[in-house]
Amino acid sequence: MTSTTATSADHVAWDLEPLLDGNDVDGLLAAADTLAGAVEAVRGRVADLDAGELARVMSDLAALHEQLGRAGNYAHLHLATDTADPAHGALVARVQERSTAIGTRLIFFDLEWAAVPEDRAEELLADPRLASCAHHLRAQRRYRPHQLAEAEERLDAEKTQTGATAWSRLFGELTSAIEVPLPEGTVRLEEGLARLADPDADVRRRAAEAVTAGLAPGLRTRAFIFNTLLLDKAVDDRLRGYPTWLSARNLQNETTDASVDALVAAVVRRYDLPQRWYRLKATMLGVDRLADHDRMASVATTAPTFAWDDARDLVLAAYRDFAPELADVAGRFFADAWIDAPVRPAKRPGAFCAYTVPSHHPYVLLNWTGTRRDVLTLAHELGHGVHAHLARPQGVFHQSTPLTLAETASVFGETLTFARLLDRTTDPADRLALLAEQIEGAIATVFRQTAMNRFEDAVHTHRREIGELSVDDFGDHWERTQAAMLGDAVQITPGYRTWWSYIPHFVNTPGYVYAYAYGQLLALAVYRRATEGGPSFVPRYLELLAAGGSLPPTQLASIVDCDLDDPGFWDGGLRIVEELLDAAEAAARDAGRL
Ligand SMILES: [Zn+2]
Repeated sequence: MTSTTATSADHVAWDLEPLLDGNDVDGLLAAADTLAGAVEAVRGRVADLDAGELARVMSDLAALHEQLGRAGNYAHLHLATDTADPAHGALVARVQERSTAIGTRLIFFDLEWAAVPEDRAEELLADPRLASCAHHLRAQRRYRPHQLAEAEERLDAEKTQTGATAWSRLFGELTSAIEVPLPEGTVRLEEGLARLADPDADVRRRAAEAVTAGLAPGLRTRAFIFNTLLLDKAVDDRLRGYPTWLSARNLQNETTDASVDALVAAVVRRYDLPQRWYRLKATMLGVDRLADHDRMASVATTAPTFAWDDARDLVLAAYRDFAPELADVAGRFFADAWIDAPVRPAKRPGAFCAYTVPSHHPYVLLNWTGTRRDVLTLAHELGHGVHAHLARPQGVFHQSTPLTLAETASVFGETLTFARLLDRTTDPADRLALLAEQIEGAIATVFRQTAMNRFEDAVHTHRREIGELSVDDFGDHWERTQAAMLGDAVQITPGYRTWWSYIPHFVNTPGYVYAYAYGQLLALAVYRRATEGGPSFVPRYLELLAAGGSLPPTQLASIVDCDLDDPGFWDGGLRIVEELLDAAEAAARDAGRL
């Protein structure tokens, strides 16, 4: 597996020029402006449009999204490869301002469309000329019972800038200024947290103490911001008539309160799985019990590296084994300059796939260093890319899936590649390292995010039923919900009680975190169907990807035989995590670590 041919990824850069399609950014923005004017011509008349007229408006809107999408992606992707160039930042800001201005002009359309009576709307949506936007238009109406009058909506949108949005931004500025006083010098929070993976237990303990010390200044201010946003959300939910703190998020995700409750309950029932892993890890690290700051400690004793060409061949072979159609699409990312791979100064960290617009093709950004994790990340992002590419014929309104299905193809592709890699790995220490990485990924995505959802549930409920929370109240809820997941397998140190106070999701996007668990377990369940279903499963999987977001999530999932309304559905994905644990325990024994 370790390669001797050191082909690098230095030459692997994407070509963004085709995005402009011979135009320039300002030309695209001007075209979008003109199209917005055409849409505005129906202001006050949306309820009176017939199907043909509505189809023409939707086609103008689709063209408008195409223009803005081209301009926006061009600007953002340029900035991603070189964030230090002020011209790139200025271009993004210009596109954003123009897009917001256009969006504000078009608020009327959503509101008027939502006000169209139900039977009239269904009559219109049955017309074949509206097929390419029917689900989108139907889904938009789901906010109907929660919408306010246009004047109130405008007021709300404008005042949010100095309300919730301003508080979130202040929280972001305060947390990015957090300094962690390590013995060898002060570092930023992310660097402090990164030390928790250090193989040396003393380094981890000192890093944790320093992070706790770094979180102390401003803790009351951050708690105040969080309290304010908890109240803001409670007011919003009351005015808009949402029954629970999570209902608005569930509606946005096109899922139901009941199905999310079933997911959370299923994961909480299997808290024994992370506990089993942390006990196993304690034994491997030679301690009686892990402390909270030992959880990220690496158990790997080997770190193979991969040449770019070998990684490409491996991922494409894994895809091809499942379905040649997938490998053919994935291959184009390499052949046609749809990937930007190397690490460069001022390049955005991490990895992502940009769908762009249906008339173009997706792009993948990586920061390739040749680690095993990088190979799986490549497989993951190509999964997104293949999904985006196969769903292009759905058009701009139906290409993207709802959030809860957005990770299906990516996790699927990653799991195919992982299985192939594991197959080829015979050395027990290598197998253990590979499995450990996969298990810790699953714990982070499924169990940790669910425990965080329980924390959110506790603080939103507390704010609504009891009132403002003290720093200690936040600490109590955090400690209790983390302890539920960790059981007696991990000792929680007193300093850990404040570690809720830097997590941006709680403040920026309330209720978001469960979507990680939802998406991961759904994708693993689909993978399970694939391994059980044999060749007859392949065409249905391809049909699922090609459907993009043209149907509600329950109907998309049913294409591959998944019943999201069945409370037992989630157990299938959780069993895969259990099998990984079985395999890791066997590998640890073979490697002499137990
Ligand atoms: Zn992803």
